[in-house]
Amino acid sequence: MKVSRITLFIIVLLGALIIDPTEVHAWTQWGKRKQCVSNVKWRWGGQIAGKHKTAFSKSLSDWNKAQKKRKFSKGGKNAPGVLDSYYEKSGVYGYTYSPHTTCLNRGWVAKMNKYWKSSNDNWYRSVSGHELGHALGLGHEEMSWVLMSHRRNRYKVYKPTSDEIKGIKAIYK
Ligand SMILES: [Zn+2]
Repeated sequence: MKVSRITLFIIVLLGALIIDPTEVHAWTQWGKRKQCVSNVKWRWGGQIAGKHKTAFSKSLSDWNKAQKKRKFSKGGKNAPGVLDSYYEKSGVYGYTYSPHTTCLNRGWVAKMNKYWKSSNDNWYRSVSGHELGHALGLGHEEMSWVLMSHRRNRYKVYKPTSDEIKGIKAIYK
Protein backbone atom coordinates (compact mmCIF):
# COMPACT_ATOMS: atom_id res chain seq x y z
CA MET A 1 0.00 0.00 0.00
CA LYS A 2 1.29 3.41 -0.95
CA VAL A 3 0.94 5.96 1.85
CA SER A 4 0.88 9.55 0.69
CA ARG A 5 2.74 12.28 2.59
CA ILE A 6 -0.51 13.89 3.66
CA THR A 7 -1.83 10.57 5.06
CA LEU A 8 1.42 10.06 6.92
CA PHE A 9 1.17 13.58 8.34
CA ILE A 10 -2.38 12.92 9.58
CA ILE A 11 -1.31 9.63 11.18
CA VAL A 12 1.57 11.37 13.00
CA LEU A 13 -0.72 14.21 14.10
CA LEU A 14 -3.36 11.80 15.45
CA GLY A 15 -0.61 9.91 17.26
CA ALA A 16 0.53 13.13 18.92
CA LEU A 17 -3.04 13.93 19.99
CA ILE A 18 -3.52 10.49 21.53
CA ILE A 19 -0.19 10.58 23.37
CA ASP A 20 -0.71 14.00 24.92
CA PRO A 21 -4.25 15.37 24.62
CA THR A 22 -3.49 18.23 27.05
CA GLU A 23 -1.11 19.74 24.50
CA VAL A 24 -4.02 20.53 22.19
CA HIS A 25 -5.13 24.12 22.28
CA ALA A 26 -8.72 24.30 23.48
CA TRP A 27 -9.20 27.27 25.79
CA THR A 28 -11.50 30.06 24.65
CA GLN A 29 -11.93 33.60 25.85
CA TRP A 30 -15.37 34.69 27.05
CA GLY A 31 -15.97 37.46 24.56
CA LYS A 32 -13.55 40.25 25.34
CA ARG A 33 -14.23 40.09 29.06
CA LYS A 34 -11.24 40.21 31.33
CA GLN A 35 -10.03 41.43 34.68
CA CYS A 36 -8.01 44.55 33.91
CA VAL A 37 -6.33 44.79 37.30
CA SER A 38 -4.02 42.10 38.62
CA ASN A 39 -5.74 41.99 42.01
CA VAL A 40 -9.25 40.60 41.50
CA LYS A 41 -11.31 41.80 44.46
CA TRP A 42 -14.35 39.83 45.59
CA ARG A 43 -16.83 39.72 48.48
CA TRP A 44 -19.52 37.30 49.70
CA GLY A 45 -23.10 37.89 48.61
CA GLY A 46 -26.06 37.87 50.99
CA GLN A 47 -27.38 34.43 49.97
CA ILE A 48 -24.16 32.43 50.14
CA ALA A 49 -24.68 28.84 51.39
CA GLY A 50 -22.14 27.08 53.62
CA LYS A 51 -21.19 24.38 51.09
CA HIS A 52 -20.79 27.00 48.39
CA LYS A 53 -18.66 29.20 50.63
CA THR A 54 -16.32 26.28 51.28
CA ALA A 55 -16.18 25.42 47.58
CA PHE A 56 -15.53 28.98 46.45
CA SER A 57 -12.81 29.35 49.10
CA LYS A 58 -11.04 26.23 47.80
CA SER A 59 -11.40 27.34 44.18
CA LEU A 60 -10.07 30.84 44.90
CA SER A 61 -7.01 29.17 46.34
CA ASP A 62 -6.82 26.70 43.41
CA TRP A 63 -6.78 29.55 40.91
CA ASN A 64 -4.25 31.58 42.88
CA LYS A 65 -1.93 28.59 43.09
CA ALA A 66 -2.35 27.65 39.42
CA GLN A 67 -1.19 30.95 37.92
CA LYS A 68 0.28 34.31 38.88
CA LYS A 69 -1.28 36.58 36.24
CA ARG A 70 -4.43 37.37 38.21
CA LYS A 71 -4.83 36.99 41.95
CA PHE A 72 -8.19 36.73 43.71
CA SER A 73 -8.20 38.63 46.99
CA LYS A 74 -10.96 39.42 49.43
CA GLY A 75 -12.16 43.00 49.23
CA GLY A 76 -14.50 45.19 51.25
CA LYS A 77 -18.18 45.91 50.73
CA ASN A 78 -17.47 47.76 47.48
CA ALA A 79 -15.46 44.92 45.90
CA PRO A 80 -16.54 44.50 42.25
CA GLY A 81 -16.86 40.70 42.42
CA VAL A 82 -19.68 38.97 44.30
CA LEU A 83 -19.67 35.26 45.14
CA ASP A 84 -23.13 34.03 46.03
CA SER A 85 -25.78 31.30 45.94
CA TYR A 86 -29.27 31.25 44.45
CA TYR A 87 -32.11 28.77 44.17
CA GLU A 88 -33.69 27.73 40.90
CA LYS A 89 -35.23 24.41 39.80
CA SER A 90 -33.22 24.02 36.64
CA GLY A 91 -30.43 22.03 35.07
CA VAL A 92 -27.99 24.86 35.69
CA TYR A 93 -25.47 24.32 38.52
CA GLY A 94 -24.19 27.88 38.56
CA TYR A 95 -23.55 30.92 36.45
CA THR A 96 -21.34 33.95 36.14
CA TYR A 97 -22.63 37.27 34.98
CA SER A 98 -21.02 40.49 33.94
CA PRO A 99 -22.55 43.37 31.99
CA HIS A 100 -19.17 44.55 30.76
CA THR A 101 -17.55 43.57 27.51
CA THR A 102 -14.00 44.55 28.36
CA CYS A 103 -12.92 45.03 31.99
CA LEU A 104 -14.77 43.22 34.75
CA ASN A 105 -13.38 45.53 37.44
CA ARG A 106 -16.66 47.42 37.61
CA GLY A 107 -18.78 44.42 38.52
CA TRP A 108 -19.38 40.70 38.10
CA VAL A 109 -21.18 37.94 40.02
CA ALA A 110 -20.56 34.20 40.23
CA LYS A 111 -23.37 32.13 41.75
CA MET A 112 -24.02 28.48 42.59
CA ASN A 113 -27.49 26.91 42.47
CA LYS A 114 -28.75 25.57 45.82
CA TYR A 115 -31.17 23.26 43.99
CA TRP A 116 -28.21 20.96 43.23
CA LYS A 117 -26.71 18.99 46.12
CA SER A 118 -23.92 16.46 46.34
CA SER A 119 -22.29 14.42 49.09
CA ASN A 120 -18.93 15.02 47.41
CA ASP A 121 -17.09 18.28 48.10
CA ASN A 122 -15.15 18.00 44.84
CA TRP A 123 -18.41 18.26 42.93
CA TYR A 124 -19.08 21.70 44.46
CA ARG A 125 -15.47 22.70 43.95
CA SER A 126 -15.75 21.80 40.26
CA VAL A 127 -18.73 24.13 39.89
CA SER A 128 -17.13 27.02 41.82
CA GLY A 129 -13.81 26.58 40.01
CA HIS A 130 -15.59 26.64 36.64
CA GLU A 131 -17.47 29.84 37.52
CA LEU A 132 -14.25 31.54 38.68
CA GLY A 133 -12.76 30.57 35.31
CA HIS A 134 -15.53 32.60 33.70
CA ALA A 135 -14.78 35.46 36.11
CA LEU A 136 -11.22 35.46 34.78
CA GLY A 137 -12.52 35.67 31.21
CA LEU A 138 -12.51 32.05 30.04
CA GLY A 139 -15.31 30.64 27.91
CA HIS A 140 -16.56 27.08 27.45
CA GLU A 141 -14.65 24.20 25.95
CA GLU A 142 -15.73 20.89 24.45
CA MET A 143 -12.97 18.67 25.80
CA SER A 144 -14.26 16.71 28.79
CA TRP A 145 -10.97 16.69 30.73
CA VAL A 146 -10.88 20.45 31.29
CA LEU A 147 -12.55 22.55 33.98
CA MET A 148 -14.30 24.85 31.50
CA SER A 149 -16.15 21.95 29.85
CA HIS A 150 -19.80 21.15 30.51
CA ARG A 151 -19.01 17.49 29.86
CA ARG A 152 -16.36 17.18 32.58
CA ASN A 153 -16.56 14.63 35.39
CA ARG A 154 -17.24 17.00 38.30
CA TYR A 155 -15.94 14.49 40.86
CA LYS A 156 -12.55 14.34 39.15
CA VAL A 157 -12.04 17.60 37.28
CA TYR A 158 -12.33 20.32 39.92
CA LYS A 159 -9.13 22.36 39.61
CA PRO A 160 -7.79 24.50 36.74
CA THR A 161 -6.06 22.22 34.22
CA SER A 162 -3.04 23.03 32.06
CA ASP A 163 -5.48 24.16 29.39
CA GLU A 164 -7.08 26.86 31.57
CA ILE A 165 -3.64 27.98 32.75
CA LYS A 166 -2.55 28.37 29.11
CA GLY A 167 -5.68 30.40 28.47
CA ILE A 168 -4.99 32.75 31.38
CA LYS A 169 -1.39 33.23 30.26
CA ALA A 170 -2.57 34.01 26.74
CA ILE A 171 -5.28 36.47 27.80
CA TYR A 172 -3.05 38.28 30.30
CA LYS A 173 0.26 38.49 28.45
ZN1 LIG B 1 -19.90 27.81 32.29
